[in-house]
Amino acid sequence: MRPFAGMLLLASFFNLLTVVFSIGSVGALIPILNLVFDTPGTDLTGAAQWKVSLAESVQAMKESRGALYTLQTVVMITLGIFIAKNVSRYAALWVLAPVRNGVVANFKQALHDKWMSMSFRQHQKLQKGDQLTRATADLTEIEWTMLKGMEGLVRDPLMILGTLILLFSMSPRLTLMAIAIIPISGGLIATVGKSLKKSAQEAQGQLGNTTSELEEALTNFPIIQSYVAEHRRAARFGQSVDLWRKFMINVYRKRDLSSPIAEVLGVGVLLAVLYLGGQEVLNGRSLTGGELVAFVVLFYQLIPAFKNLTNALYDIQKGNASAARIFEVLDEEEPKDGNLQVESSHWEHGLRFENATFAYESGIPVINGLHLYLLPGKTTALVGPSGGGKSTLLHLLAGFDYPQSGALNLAEVPLNSFKRASYRKHTGWVPQQPLLFNDTVAANVSMSGTLDKSRLMNALEAAHCLEFAEEYIANETLIGEGGNQLSGGQRQRLSIARAFYADPSLLLLDEATAALDNESEARVQEALIALMKGRTTVVVAHRLSTVQHADQIAYVEAGRVVELGTHSELLQKAGKYAALVNLGTLNAEA
Ligand code: ADP
Ligand code: MG
Repeated sequence: MRPFAGMLLLASFFNLLTVVFSIGSVGALIPILNLVFDTPGTDLTGAAQWKVSLAESVQAMKESRGALYTLQTVVMITLGIFIAKNVSRYAALWVLAPVRNGVVANFKQALHDKWMSMSFRQHQKLQKGDQLTRATADLTEIEWTMLKGMEGLVRDPLMILGTLILLFSMSPRLTLMAIAIIPISGGLIATVGKSLKKSAQEAQGQLGNTTSELEEALTNFPIIQSYVAEHRRAARFGQSVDLWRKFMINVYRKRDLSSPIAEVLGVGVLLAVLYLGGQEVLNGRSLTGGELVAFVVLFYQLIPAFKNLTNALYDIQKGNASAARIFEVLDEEEPKDGNLQVESSHWEHGLRFENATFAYESGIPVINGLHLYLLPGKTTALVGPSGGGKSTLLHLLAGFDYPQSGALNLAEVPLNSFKRASYRKHTGWVPQQPLLFNDTVAANVSMSGTLDKSRLMNALEAAHCLEFAEEYIANETLIGEGGNQLSGGQRQRLSIARAFYADPSLLLLDEATAALDNESEARVQEALIALMKGRTTVVVAHRLSTVQHADQIAYVEAGRVVELGTHSELLQKAGKYAALVNLGTLNAEA
């Protein structure tokens, strides 16, 4: 809210005006009512000064200009005050409108930026659907509850306070009665409010779960149909929705308590006021009939103000549940960043793993005392059984995460001393599954910098993309979600073109072959070989053809390099690598 402090202050000012006018407008009713009901003989001694002067000036006007003229004048003044009240009320809302949207927009941006700054490991723990719910439903909830409540939060207490002061000056005894409502209702409201927040938190959490399930169902749709799992998935989803519905029923039932509680308390006091005030009037003491009506009208204004305030307090509890979910994301600690810049000269040296270990959350090391030197400008192929830690090694090399003990150094400098962004500017990562945006070919390929047409065409040519990409470029056609308008091989080559465009010093490849037919595989292979030339390259290889030409081959098993050498060296050794080659398959994972 801080950036909007000025506007909030302005809105509060208009709210203050609204309160003044709305109390004044009822005060102005008193002379009208007195004129009409004409209750002479009421003893005004001891009454507040403003009541005496008001009565006197109305009386004076009545004597000089006549009762009807006085009535007209007082009615016009009252109308003027009502109009002023509504103008200032609208002005307060007008000022608040950009605050409401502004806060929501800022939150949205902050969530986006936070997600993008997370470490790979933090990111992997996120459930997409649940996270998106936070950026949508939870933010809407905040807008509707807290920010809407904000309008009333300034106005209503002021209204209550101002009205009470006026009432007090009209009749202290009656007003004290009215004040008795505050602690009683306060206690009641707070108790229900607390349990409301808990229910709301459960409901929003469950909403996140259902959204995650929806997201998964949409993503995995073909496999669900193919295994005829629609009914099982539907039943599972039904349970999830049901749970959410149950939580929501609780939320509404608790929230809806606020108005009845406020109204019963308010009307109870109002009736007591009418009873006691009626006695005062009937006995001709300190209060005219007109004043009692004004008192009651004022009191009637108090009830919605109380109701609004209770609603606002309840809404804030409800919104708090959503805010807690949003701040859970925003309070995630961002990974520490180094401050050294990576220079091109660093890449004249190789990267070196020294006794490195790394574990995901489980604490079971996936990389376990690993030693490996990646020759600068040369290609290192990683082979080995599935689950051995090859992809994890690539993630470490991509600077997504750092070894927890031992070291991963570039030119004898630990990777975590480098500024992450500056390190990544020198790396090109081609994941096993190409990650593409529903955007133009040009935008997908030139992600790493501003668009340079000739560089783009070079990258596309080198990655053998021109044959299909030229038409896309000419028409600026979007390639569909995840690039689903392209074939597997085309997607893969586009992903390679992206690495070409970035012109990285370190190239990280998770070879994909499964999705490709023979011809695309050959084209992808050509593209890769062109890309690898002259760069420090680490490739998780599934094809003998790639591995054979690598400058060194590391056989990775259980988080360690157990064999290292060239193709012929390792064949001679007749160890695990040789066994793989003889089997004719390099990696069951492919
Ligand atoms: P490879 O690529 O050689 O098949 P990976 O590096 O993908 O092996 O995985 C190595 C081990 O790490 C596996 O046993 C796998 O279960 C585990 N692993 C991979 N990713 C995660 C993760 N995000 N959280 C926990 N464990 C993981
Ligand atoms: Mg892998």
